[in-house]
Amino acid sequence: MEFDVDLFVIGGGSGGVRAARIAAGHGAKVMLAEEFRVGGTCVIRGCVPKKLYVLAGRFARDFREARGFGWSVGETAHDWNRLVAAKEAEITRLEGLYEKGQAGAGVTVIKSRAVLEGPHEVRIVSDNRIIRAKNILIATGGRPNLDENLPGVEHVITSNEVFDLAEFPRRILIAGGGYIALEFAGIFCDLGAEVTVIYRGEKPLRGFDDDLRDGLIDAYDKAGIRFVLGDTFRAIEKGSDGLTGITKKGERLVADQILFAIGRAPNVEGLGLEKAGVILASDGAIAVDSASRTNIAHIFAVGDVTNRVNLTPVAIREGHAVADTLFGATKGIAPWQVDHANIPTAVFTTPELGTVGLTEAEARASFRIVDLYKTSFRAMKATLSGSDDRVMMKLLVDAETDRILGCHILGEGAAEMIQLVGIAIKMGATKRDFDATMALHPSTAEELVTMRTRTARFERA
Ligand code: FAD
Ligand code: NDP
Repeated sequence: MEFDVDLFVIGGGSGGVRAARIAAGHGAKVMLAEEFRVGGTCVIRGCVPKKLYVLAGRFARDFREARGFGWSVGETAHDWNRLVAAKEAEITRLEGLYEKGQAGAGVTVIKSRAVLEGPHEVRIVSDNRIIRAKNILIATGGRPNLDENLPGVEHVITSNEVFDLAEFPRRILIAGGGYIALEFAGIFCDLGAEVTVIYRGEKPLRGFDDDLRDGLIDAYDKAGIRFVLGDTFRAIEKGSDGLTGITKKGERLVADQILFAIGRAPNVEGLGLEKAGVILASDGAIAVDSASRTNIAHIFAVGDVTNRVNLTPVAIREGHAVADTLFGATKGIAPWQVDHANIPTAVFTTPELGTVGLTEAEARASFRIVDLYKTSFRAMKATLSGSDDRVMMKLLVDAETDRILGCHILGEGAAEMIQLVGIAIKMGATKRDFDATMALHPSTAEELVTMRTRTARFERA
């Protein structure tokens, strides 16, 4: 069979662009189709604009706290539309860089939706062209979940719309208790909105260490964010005073916008998977093996569409591994697979939350004797700023091997710190290694290497 390309990549997000660029660099003939904007969720309506908005919100705190350091801060005001415009300029610049990167590597980028028509056939939807591809990579990402049966659902927004609201919402209701709900709660609160988070469970951020969850809820309570727990919306109504969210327990919450952040689903609808014979896992994601290979040997899938660990660096690395595995031999690169253990992650709330490895509950369930080292203190900045924010750090140690099983940090700089702790944990660092590391003074991170006294020991019966 004659092929038009060695690799066709569907989706120009984190995983797709990396795979395409690396494969082309190895000499493969590569085509990539993107139906929206090159860069994907992370660059266009995810990590990048989100972090810019988090940074924007944090200035409000800096203005307040600068007084303690002798500054007189005059009137401050925030212009939402200027922030949106500045964000747009930046992501457009990044989109351009991504496009240039693809072109520079020799990838043919098609600005269109693409779907599968058979095991080797991809149809470019804009012109109905069929491309015959020797290998196919599905990197179509995910999309926000919505309950289509919720009365009034047409009035709510998701993370797809939230970045570009024409007006700043003075009152916002946020449904969900995960990364996106809590990050946007912080952003809107810091920018001056009245924020209510409505979450179906008893404590948001399920799956994170309990001390992080408790510490964040405490900080958010103090910041004035209201939590409505154990409840969800049963209807949304539009009236003259904005939107009213009516909860199952009967609360009527009024706001200018209602943001739904209740998880994301893999983008597989209408993709033609059945025509290619690709099967899905029970959660609706594309089923892949550890090499990101689907049940069809020459079709691969990476990133959020596979619903493994839905983070940008993971999608990038999975895409890179597929490209090296398929075409790396030309450069002497052996096939390799992504290790999904001990992935550091942060929730960009304020205070920030950084985590790597096992939570306390997981460690205690999996190891016989677990030592806990925990500290909570006011960071140096807080001594003069007047803020009562505290930093919390904890290390979980396997008492039998001394190996660090998990590290959890809540407070300013948590994401930066946890990235570096992640290296140590990946290398198998022990508590003795941490103890032997000289502290860097004065810093927040030094507490990680000066926790000498065990807080608790947990022994499994
Ligand atoms: P995507 O980046 O979603 O790319 C998929 C691309 O495929 C899209 O551009 C889409 O338009 C395109 N596409 C889909 N179907 C087709 C088709 N049939 N034809 C052509 N093109 C198609 N992760 C982090 O690590 N850190 C963060 O701080 C972070 N913040 C986030 C904040 C938000 C609000 C959101 C929503 C996500 C965030 N994430 C973050 C998650 C991160 O964005 C994703 O894990 C990552 O983008 C996944 O990459 P991907 O390549 O799998 O998919
Ligand atoms: P998450 O999976 O983080 O959280 C989803 C939340 O919605 C949970 O609190 C969940 O509750 C709740 N939920 C799920 N279904 C329903 C429902 N039917 N009704 C009411 N509530 C519901 O998803 P997000 O949408 O926040 O983010 C998607 C993913 O994107 C994240 O998991 C993460 O992988 C990635 N991301 C990463 C970021 C980062 O790295 N900083 C930032 C933003 C996103 P419950 O816990 O009870 O299941």
